[in-house]
Amino acid sequence: MKILIVEDETKTGDYLKQGLTESGFSVDLARTGLDGHHLAKTEAYELLILDIMLPDIDGLKILSSIREAKDSTPVLLLTAKDSIEDKVKGLELGADDYLVKPFAFAELLARVRTLLRRPAVMAQTDKLQIADLVLDLPKRRVSRSGKKIKLTNKEFSLLELLVRRKGEVLPRSLIASQVWDMNFDSDTNVIDVAIRRLRSKMDDPFDPKLITTVRGMGYSIEDPTEGSDEK
Ligand code: CA
Repeated sequence: MKILIVEDETKTGDYLKQGLTESGFSVDLARTGLDGHHLAKTEAYELLILDIMLPDIDGLKILSSIREAKDSTPVLLLTAKDSIEDKVKGLELGADDYLVKPFAFAELLARVRTLLRRPAVMAQTDKLQIADLVLDLPKRRVSRSGKKIKLTNKEFSLLELLVRRKGEVLPRSLIASQVWDMNFDSDTNVIDVAIRRLRSKMDDPFDPKLITTVRGMGYSIEDPTEGSDEK
């Protein structure tokens, strides 16, 4: 379970990081809004803890930016003052919970566990994984080694189809009918172009390569880290 804390106050940040680490979470701590925003955009977290008052870009801006990008990672907001406006604004922007400083660590931990329980129930069945590739189906999000990968809707559907039928060689005609809802016309190279784009995003920058081209037949996805079929 990976958590991002964005908190500019050194003591509070260190204290939260230490407490959550000791409670078994993997924690990244950003001390500025810009760093936090960058991490939230590029890494995959199960939860974000955002301080509202930050010197550069504030917690509410980070929240609105990730929600605009259709990122539904749970967000817990922290603020020093019990400001009704901040609270209302935060919840309107899509925050999941809110904690007013000062708070007891036990209180924060209880909120964190509650927030993580919500999606975790579904995550068991709604995540597909091959090697370090993870597809989050309800959120339509993809990551490899924890790095978020931005795909178009079609690219996501294409990847999902390959992953669901892992190890099978899928002919272009099947891909065309399942993903594009069209009859395969052998004159078009729509599928090949789409596969090339998909690979450039989720295979080329990583190792091992997961998508295989089977000449004259189609495409498949396999987990090269799983035992080979030599037996
Ligand atoms: Ca602050």
